[in-house]
Amino acid sequence: QRRALLEAWTGPAATSDGTAVKVLANVADRASAQHAAQAPVEGSGLFRTELCFLNRKDEPSVEEQAELYGGVLTAFGPDRTVVVRTLDAGSDKPVAFATLAGEENPALGVRGLRLSFGNPGLLERQLDAIAMAAEQTGTRPWVMAPMVATVEEARAFAEQVRGRGLPAGVMVEVPSAALLAHRFLEVVDFLSIGTNDLTQYTMAADRMAADLAHLTDPWQPAVLALVAITAEAGRQAGKPVGVCGEAAADPLLATALVGMGVTSLSMASAAVRPVGAQLAEVSMDVCEQAAEVALAAVDPAAGRDAVRALIAPA
Ligand code: PEP
Ligand code: MG
Repeated sequence: QRRALLEAWTGPAATSDGTAVKVLANVADRASAQHAAQAPVEGSGLFRTELCFLNRKDEPSVEEQAELYGGVLTAFGPDRTVVVRTLDAGSDKPVAFATLAGEENPALGVRGLRLSFGNPGLLERQLDAIAMAAEQTGTRPWVMAPMVATVEEARAFAEQVRGRGLPAGVMVEVPSAALLAHRFLEVVDFLSIGTNDLTQYTMAADRMAADLAHLTDPWQPAVLALVAITAEAGRQAGKPVGVCGEAAADPLLATALVGMGVTSLSMASAAVRPVGAQLAEVSMDVCEQAAEVALAAVDPAAGRDAVRALIAPA
């Protein structure tokens, strides 16, 4: 019966009482985008561009990058938005032509947007390529930066993106960005919460460490508190705030995120139907209650139990 429910769900996503939520797919390249575009999604909330370059020794030319990005933009066409993330190299995603070698502590080192400060032209060439791809494909991607810690970084990034005529955002992956989300929203058009890194940096626990899985759990109330601050700032500013980390792929947690005021959820395409079908079964009021009990829980297990009890009363 569950299976029939999932198959019957064809999007677009909304709560049972009609609050729209954008359900989007995370993609890595043309092939994954073509696959994801078959799912009932309204676009891609995270195109991880660095995954196109993991096996490259040298930086591809602007033209070659434009070709790669164009493949993803074309897969979704002009009516579905793709959020292109600029190079998130470093730490768990080493890219030969960008990452610094021999850092003591790469997760806290020069990664994401920080790489572009010591590498003049790298970001500019990527933005040129994204703008070229947009032009060639007749699409209007949104562009966001990873690992942003200060409002000034966000402002400088947004200026570059808007200078090329595209909407600009940043990821909220560092607690500093969540805490000051309202100020970030003064300088960008949207925010996207990367719960994988936000959890890692909030809990001071390596996301790759299997022994720390109890800490690197997005149901951790401290992580959810930062998500709630960010979503509320978005509501106040009237600007979109999405979630594109693994948290968005958990149907139960998705209800709580929507209750906090998150406007889109981007996930692996396999999670699209389970999340969409779950949202269709709950009202916005229940989502708000789910947010409340998840935030008030003492630990992740208690949060899960409380939300489950709310949604499927025994
Ligand atoms: C995240 O950190 O949650 C995220 C979406 O980015 P990535 O997993 O690529 O670091
Ligand atoms: Mg991240």
